[in-house]
Amino acid sequence: MHDSLRTTGVVLAGAAFLLAGAVATRTAANSHNPVQTQIAARTEAKSSAKPSGVPAVLNFKMKNLSGQDVDLARYKGRVVMMVNVASKCGYTPQYAGLQALHKKYAAKGLAILGFPANDFGAQEPGSDAEIGEFCQKNYGVEFDMFAKTAVTGAQKNALYALLTSEKTNPKFAGEVKWNFEKFLIGRDGEILARFRSNVAPDSEEMTKAIEAALAAKAPAKTTPPAPTKAAKVIKTDAEWKRLLTPEQFYVMRQKGTERAFTGKYNDAKEKGIYQCAACGNELFSSDTKFESGTGWPSFWKPLAAQSIATHADTMLGMTRTEVVCSRCDAHLGHVFNDGPQPTGLRYCMNSVSLNLVPKQ
Ligand code: FE
Repeated sequence: MHDSLRTTGVVLAGAAFLLAGAVATRTAANSHNPVQTQIAARTEAKSSAKPSGVPAVLNFKMKNLSGQDVDLARYKGRVVMMVNVASKCGYTPQYAGLQALHKKYAAKGLAILGFPANDFGAQEPGSDAEIGEFCQKNYGVEFDMFAKTAVTGAQKNALYALLTSEKTNPKFAGEVKWNFEKFLIGRDGEILARFRSNVAPDSEEMTKAIEAALAAKAPAKTTPPAPTKAAKVIKTDAEWKRLLTPEQFYVMRQKGTERAFTGKYNDAKEKGIYQCAACGNELFSSDTKFESGTGWPSFWKPLAAQSIATHADTMLGMTRTEVVCSRCDAHLGHVFNDGPQPTGLRYCMNSVSLNLVPKQ
Protein backbone atom coordinates (compact mmCIF):
# COMPACT_ATOMS: atom_id res chain seq x y z
CA MET A 1 0.00 0.00 0.00
CA HIS A 2 1.37 3.33 -0.98
CA ASP A 3 0.64 4.99 2.30
CA SER A 4 2.72 2.57 4.32
CA LEU A 5 5.97 4.27 3.32
CA ARG A 6 4.67 7.64 4.29
CA THR A 7 3.31 6.24 7.54
CA THR A 8 6.70 4.77 8.42
CA GLY A 9 8.46 8.01 7.55
CA VAL A 10 6.10 9.96 9.68
CA VAL A 11 6.42 7.67 12.68
CA LEU A 12 10.22 7.63 12.40
CA ALA A 13 10.26 11.37 12.23
CA GLY A 14 8.21 11.51 15.39
CA ALA A 15 5.56 13.58 13.77
CA ALA A 16 2.68 14.77 15.85
CA PHE A 17 -0.51 15.88 14.28
CA LEU A 18 -1.68 19.40 13.96
CA LEU A 19 -5.10 20.77 14.48
CA ALA A 20 -6.62 21.96 11.28
CA GLY A 21 -6.41 25.67 10.87
CA ALA A 22 -3.27 26.15 12.93
CA VAL A 23 -1.15 26.79 9.91
CA ALA A 24 -1.64 30.45 9.26
CA THR A 25 1.58 32.18 8.43
CA ARG A 26 2.58 35.74 8.70
CA THR A 27 4.87 38.08 6.94
CA ALA A 28 6.15 41.29 8.33
CA ALA A 29 4.56 44.45 7.07
CA ASN A 30 6.71 46.34 4.64
CA SER A 31 8.61 48.87 6.60
CA HIS A 32 11.57 49.73 4.43
CA ASN A 33 11.92 50.39 0.79
CA PRO A 34 15.38 50.13 -0.80
CA VAL A 35 14.56 52.41 -3.69
CA GLN A 36 14.06 55.27 -1.30
CA THR A 37 17.73 56.04 -1.62
CA GLN A 38 17.37 56.76 -5.33
CA ILE A 39 15.90 60.18 -4.82
CA ALA A 40 16.90 62.47 -7.61
CA ALA A 41 17.43 66.19 -7.42
CA ARG A 42 14.26 67.09 -9.28
CA THR A 43 11.90 65.02 -7.22
CA GLU A 44 10.20 65.95 -4.00
CA ALA A 45 9.53 62.36 -2.92
CA LYS A 46 11.07 61.51 0.41
CA SER A 47 10.76 58.50 2.63
CA SER A 48 8.61 59.21 5.60
CA ALA A 49 10.15 56.18 7.38
CA LYS A 50 7.03 55.04 9.21
CA PRO A 51 7.91 52.44 11.82
CA SER A 52 5.28 49.93 10.73
CA GLY A 53 1.86 49.38 9.30
CA VAL A 54 2.29 51.71 6.34
CA PRO A 55 2.43 49.87 3.02
CA ALA A 56 5.68 50.46 1.10
CA VAL A 57 3.83 52.19 -1.71
CA LEU A 58 2.51 54.82 0.73
CA ASN A 59 5.75 55.21 2.64
CA PHE A 60 6.64 58.53 0.98
CA LYS A 61 6.24 62.24 1.42
CA MET A 62 5.44 64.20 -1.70
CA LYS A 63 4.85 67.92 -2.18
CA ASN A 64 1.42 69.05 -3.31
CA LEU A 65 0.81 71.79 -5.87
CA SER A 66 1.08 74.40 -3.10
CA GLY A 67 4.49 73.13 -2.09
CA GLN A 68 3.35 71.53 1.17
CA ASP A 69 4.59 68.12 2.23
CA VAL A 70 1.94 65.40 2.07
CA ASP A 71 2.60 62.15 3.85
CA LEU A 72 1.13 59.45 1.58
CA ALA A 73 0.51 57.38 4.72
CA ARG A 74 -2.63 59.47 5.10
CA TYR A 75 -4.17 57.34 2.32
CA LYS A 76 -3.65 54.09 4.23
CA GLY A 77 -6.77 51.93 4.15
CA ARG A 78 -8.13 53.65 1.06
CA VAL A 79 -8.12 52.48 -2.53
CA VAL A 80 -5.59 54.70 -4.28
CA MET A 81 -5.20 55.45 -7.95
CA MET A 82 -1.91 57.11 -8.90
CA VAL A 83 -1.92 58.85 -12.26
CA ASN A 84 0.86 60.77 -14.02
CA VAL A 85 -0.85 63.71 -15.69
CA ALA A 86 -0.07 66.44 -18.23
CA SER A 87 -1.95 69.51 -19.46
CA LYS A 88 -1.18 69.40 -23.18
CA CYS A 89 -1.60 65.73 -24.01
CA GLY A 90 -4.11 64.00 -26.25
CA TYR A 91 -5.21 62.19 -23.11
CA THR A 92 -5.61 65.38 -21.06
CA PRO A 93 -9.44 65.17 -21.36
CA GLN A 94 -9.16 62.10 -19.11
CA TYR A 95 -9.12 64.66 -16.29
CA ALA A 96 -12.89 64.80 -16.75
CA GLY A 97 -13.19 61.03 -16.30
CA LEU A 98 -10.88 61.08 -13.29
CA GLN A 99 -12.89 63.87 -11.67
CA ALA A 100 -16.07 61.84 -12.33
CA LEU A 101 -14.50 58.83 -10.61
CA HIS A 102 -13.56 61.07 -7.70
CA LYS A 103 -17.15 62.37 -7.41
CA LYS A 104 -18.58 58.89 -7.57
CA TYR A 105 -16.19 56.95 -5.35
CA ALA A 106 -14.32 59.32 -3.01
CA ALA A 107 -16.91 58.87 -0.27
CA LYS A 108 -16.59 55.10 -0.64
CA GLY A 109 -12.84 55.24 -0.11
CA LEU A 110 -11.18 56.04 -3.45
CA ALA A 111 -8.32 58.56 -3.52
CA ILE A 112 -7.01 59.74 -6.87
CA LEU A 113 -3.52 61.22 -6.79
CA GLY A 114 -2.34 63.22 -9.82
CA PHE A 115 1.39 63.58 -10.49
CA PRO A 116 2.12 66.12 -13.23
CA ALA A 117 5.24 65.30 -15.23
CA ASN A 118 6.87 66.86 -18.27
CA ASP A 119 8.42 63.54 -19.28
CA PHE A 120 6.46 62.72 -22.40
CA GLY A 121 6.49 65.10 -25.34
CA ALA A 122 7.13 68.05 -22.99
CA GLN A 123 3.37 68.24 -22.52
CA GLU A 124 3.49 69.60 -18.98
CA PRO A 125 5.65 72.74 -19.41
CA GLY A 126 3.96 74.98 -16.83
CA SER A 127 4.63 75.77 -13.20
CA ASP A 128 2.75 74.12 -10.32
CA ALA A 129 0.55 77.20 -10.05
CA GLU A 130 -0.26 77.08 -13.77
CA ILE A 131 -1.04 73.36 -13.59
CA GLY A 132 -3.39 73.94 -10.67
CA GLU A 133 -5.15 76.76 -12.45
CA PHE A 134 -5.48 74.70 -15.64
CA CYS A 135 -7.03 71.74 -13.80
CA GLN A 136 -9.43 73.92 -11.88
CA LYS A 137 -10.54 76.03 -14.82
CA ASN A 138 -10.96 73.29 -17.41
CA TYR A 139 -11.98 70.24 -15.42
CA GLY A 140 -12.95 71.38 -11.92
CA VAL A 141 -10.44 68.91 -10.51
CA GLU A 142 -11.07 68.23 -6.82
CA PHE A 143 -8.89 65.18 -6.31
CA ASP A 144 -5.42 65.54 -4.86
CA MET A 145 -2.79 66.95 -7.18
CA PHE A 146 0.92 66.88 -6.45
CA ALA A 147 3.83 69.05 -7.51
CA LYS A 148 5.46 68.57 -10.88
CA THR A 149 7.80 65.62 -10.77
CA ALA A 150 9.45 62.99 -12.97
CA VAL A 151 8.02 59.50 -13.37
CA THR A 152 10.57 58.00 -15.73
CA GLY A 153 14.29 58.05 -16.54
CA ALA A 154 17.16 59.01 -14.28
CA GLN A 155 15.16 61.75 -12.57
CA LYS A 156 12.22 59.57 -11.64
CA ASN A 157 10.94 60.07 -8.10
CA ALA A 158 11.25 57.36 -5.49
CA LEU A 159 7.55 56.52 -5.50
CA TYR A 160 7.65 55.83 -9.24
CA ALA A 161 10.91 53.94 -8.82
CA LEU A 162 8.97 51.60 -6.53
CA LEU A 163 5.99 51.39 -8.89
CA THR A 164 8.10 50.54 -11.94
CA SER A 165 10.80 48.31 -10.46
CA GLU A 166 10.79 44.56 -11.00
CA LYS A 167 11.95 44.15 -7.40
CA THR A 168 9.24 46.16 -5.70
CA ASN A 169 6.35 45.71 -8.12
CA PRO A 170 7.02 42.44 -9.98
CA LYS A 171 3.48 42.09 -11.32
CA PHE A 172 3.28 45.50 -12.98
CA ALA A 173 6.90 46.61 -13.39
CA GLY A 174 8.21 48.57 -16.36
CA GLU A 175 8.76 52.19 -17.29
CA VAL A 176 5.80 54.51 -17.56
CA LYS A 177 5.40 55.04 -21.30
CA TRP A 178 3.17 58.08 -21.55
CA ASN A 179 0.96 60.53 -19.69
CA PHE A 180 -2.12 59.22 -17.87
CA GLU A 181 -0.98 55.75 -16.89
CA LYS A 182 -2.82 54.57 -13.78
CA PHE A 183 -1.70 52.35 -10.91
CA LEU A 184 -4.47 50.98 -8.71
CA ILE A 185 -3.58 50.17 -5.11
CA GLY A 186 -5.81 48.19 -2.75
CA ARG A 187 -6.79 49.11 0.78
CA ASP A 188 -4.04 46.82 2.06
CA GLY A 189 -1.37 48.59 -0.02
CA GLU A 190 -1.10 45.83 -2.61
CA ILE A 191 -0.67 47.08 -6.16
CA LEU A 192 -3.68 45.55 -7.88
CA ALA A 193 -3.61 46.74 -11.45
CA ARG A 194 -1.95 48.99 -13.96
CA PHE A 195 -3.74 50.67 -16.84
CA ARG A 196 -1.96 52.22 -19.80
CA SER A 197 -2.77 55.70 -21.07
CA ASN A 198 -5.42 54.58 -23.52
CA VAL A 199 -7.61 52.96 -20.86
CA ALA A 200 -10.22 55.60 -20.08
CA PRO A 201 -11.10 56.33 -16.46
CA ASP A 202 -14.77 55.57 -17.19
CA SER A 203 -14.03 52.31 -19.02
CA GLU A 204 -15.73 49.19 -17.77
CA GLU A 205 -12.35 47.60 -17.10
CA MET A 206 -11.29 50.36 -14.76
CA THR A 207 -14.64 50.83 -13.05
CA LYS A 208 -14.83 47.11 -12.30
CA ALA A 209 -11.33 47.08 -10.83
CA ILE A 210 -12.06 50.09 -8.65
CA GLU A 211 -15.36 48.67 -7.39
CA ALA A 212 -13.76 45.33 -6.58
CA ALA A 213 -10.97 47.08 -4.68
CA LEU A 214 -13.43 49.25 -2.76
CA ALA A 215 -15.45 46.18 -1.80
CA ALA A 216 -12.43 44.56 -0.15
CA LYS A 217 -12.04 45.29 3.51
CA ALA A 218 -8.76 46.66 4.80
CA PRO A 219 -7.06 43.70 6.47
CA ALA A 220 -5.27 43.61 9.78
CA LYS A 221 -1.77 44.89 9.29
CA THR A 222 -0.08 41.52 9.75
CA THR A 223 -2.17 39.82 7.05
CA PRO A 224 -0.13 39.26 3.89
CA PRO A 225 -1.70 40.14 0.56
CA ALA A 226 -3.45 37.17 -0.95
CA PRO A 227 -1.81 36.02 -4.17
CA THR A 228 -4.86 34.09 -5.23
CA LYS A 229 -8.45 35.19 -4.79
CA ALA A 230 -10.03 33.09 -7.48
CA ALA A 231 -13.47 31.61 -7.17
CA LYS A 232 -13.95 27.97 -6.27
CA VAL A 233 -13.46 25.40 -9.02
CA ILE A 234 -16.10 22.68 -8.78
CA LYS A 235 -16.27 19.76 -11.20
CA THR A 236 -17.73 16.28 -11.24
CA ASP A 237 -15.51 13.21 -10.97
CA ALA A 238 -16.19 12.52 -14.64
CA GLU A 239 -14.94 15.98 -15.56
CA TRP A 240 -11.84 15.64 -13.39
CA LYS A 241 -11.12 12.24 -14.97
CA ARG A 242 -11.00 13.88 -18.36
CA LEU A 243 -8.66 16.62 -17.14
CA LEU A 244 -6.27 14.64 -14.94
CA THR A 245 -3.97 11.69 -15.51
CA PRO A 246 -5.07 8.48 -13.77
CA GLU A 247 -2.38 8.99 -11.12
CA GLN A 248 -3.42 12.61 -10.58
CA PHE A 249 -7.04 11.54 -10.27
CA TYR A 250 -6.09 8.87 -7.74
CA VAL A 251 -4.08 11.30 -5.62
CA MET A 252 -5.99 14.56 -6.04
CA ARG A 253 -9.58 13.33 -6.09
CA GLN A 254 -9.33 10.04 -4.18
CA LYS A 255 -6.78 11.16 -1.57
CA GLY A 256 -4.15 8.71 -2.70
CA THR A 257 -0.40 9.02 -2.21
CA GLU A 258 2.34 8.66 -4.79
CA ARG A 259 5.15 6.29 -3.90
CA ALA A 260 8.01 7.96 -2.01
CA PHE A 261 11.07 9.00 -4.05
CA THR A 262 9.17 8.61 -7.33
CA GLY A 263 7.74 12.09 -7.78
CA LYS A 264 9.31 14.52 -10.21
CA TYR A 265 9.61 17.33 -7.68
CA ASN A 266 11.09 15.34 -4.81
CA ASP A 267 14.61 16.53 -5.64
CA ALA A 268 13.67 19.60 -7.68
CA LYS A 269 15.84 22.65 -7.01
CA GLU A 270 14.47 24.92 -9.71
CA LYS A 271 13.16 28.33 -8.63
CA GLY A 272 9.53 29.13 -9.21
CA ILE A 273 5.99 28.83 -7.97
CA TYR A 274 4.30 25.47 -7.45
CA GLN A 275 0.72 25.59 -8.64
CA CYS A 276 -2.13 23.15 -8.12
CA ALA A 277 -1.89 20.69 -11.03
CA ALA A 278 -5.67 20.61 -11.27
CA CYS A 279 -6.68 24.27 -11.17
CA GLY A 280 -3.53 26.42 -11.33
CA ASN A 281 -3.97 27.93 -7.85
CA GLU A 282 -0.58 29.18 -6.61
CA LEU A 283 0.36 27.06 -3.61
CA PHE A 284 4.04 27.12 -2.69
CA SER A 285 7.23 29.00 -3.52
CA SER A 286 10.46 27.14 -4.23
CA ASP A 287 11.97 29.49 -1.62
CA THR A 288 10.26 27.50 1.14
CA LYS A 289 11.11 24.03 -0.25
CA PHE A 290 13.51 21.96 1.81
CA GLU A 291 15.02 18.49 1.76
CA SER A 292 13.01 16.47 4.23
CA GLY A 293 14.41 13.06 3.27
CA THR A 294 10.89 11.66 3.25
CA GLY A 295 10.69 11.09 -0.51
CA TRP A 296 8.06 13.76 -1.11
CA PRO A 297 8.55 17.44 -1.97
CA SER A 298 8.37 19.34 1.31
CA PHE A 299 7.76 22.99 2.10
CA TRP A 300 7.75 24.91 5.37
CA LYS A 301 4.90 27.22 4.47
CA PRO A 302 2.32 27.80 1.75
CA LEU A 303 2.51 30.85 -0.47
CA ALA A 304 -0.31 32.36 1.59
CA ALA A 305 -2.48 30.98 4.35
CA GLN A 306 -5.43 31.17 1.99
CA SER A 307 -3.71 29.16 -0.77
CA ILE A 308 -4.61 25.94 0.99
CA ALA A 309 -7.15 24.50 3.39
CA THR A 310 -6.59 21.83 6.00
CA HIS A 311 -8.81 19.07 7.36
CA ALA A 312 -8.41 16.46 10.03
CA ASP A 313 -7.71 13.09 8.35
CA THR A 314 -8.36 9.96 10.36
CA MET A 315 -7.76 7.47 7.57
CA LEU A 316 -5.29 4.64 8.24
CA GLY A 317 -6.05 4.74 11.97
CA MET A 318 -4.05 7.92 12.53
CA THR A 319 -5.03 11.48 12.98
CA ARG A 320 -3.21 13.62 10.47
CA THR A 321 -3.88 16.98 8.89
CA GLU A 322 -4.78 16.79 5.25
CA VAL A 323 -3.82 19.69 2.99
CA VAL A 324 -6.08 20.52 0.05
CA CYS A 325 -6.10 23.22 -2.60
CA SER A 326 -8.35 26.02 -1.36
CA ARG A 327 -9.69 26.58 -4.85
CA CYS A 328 -10.56 23.12 -6.19
CA ASP A 329 -10.30 21.01 -2.99
CA ALA A 330 -7.75 18.69 -4.62
CA HIS A 331 -5.87 16.54 -2.14
CA LEU A 332 -2.25 17.73 -2.03
CA GLY A 333 -0.74 15.86 0.92
CA HIS A 334 -0.44 16.40 4.68
CA VAL A 335 1.16 18.87 7.06
CA PHE A 336 3.23 17.81 10.06
CA ASN A 337 4.87 19.81 12.80
CA ASP A 338 8.39 18.43 12.37
CA GLY A 339 9.51 20.97 9.78
CA PRO A 340 12.28 23.56 9.95
CA GLN A 341 12.00 27.03 11.43
CA PRO A 342 10.61 29.63 11.19
CA THR A 343 7.29 27.75 11.08
CA GLY A 344 8.33 24.30 12.29
CA LEU A 345 5.93 22.86 9.73
CA ARG A 346 6.45 20.30 6.99
CA TYR A 347 3.99 20.41 4.12
CA CYS A 348 4.49 16.97 2.65
CA MET A 349 3.14 17.12 -0.89
CA ASN A 350 2.58 14.76 -3.78
CA SER A 351 4.52 15.77 -6.88
CA VAL A 352 1.62 14.80 -9.11
CA SER A 353 -0.56 17.38 -7.38
CA LEU A 354 1.87 20.15 -8.25
CA ASN A 355 2.96 22.01 -11.33
CA LEU A 356 6.15 24.07 -11.07
CA VAL A 357 6.07 27.32 -13.01
CA PRO A 358 9.74 28.33 -13.27
CA LYS A 359 10.74 31.86 -12.37
CA GLN A 360 11.15 34.06 -15.45
FE1 FE B 1 -6.58 23.30 -7.15
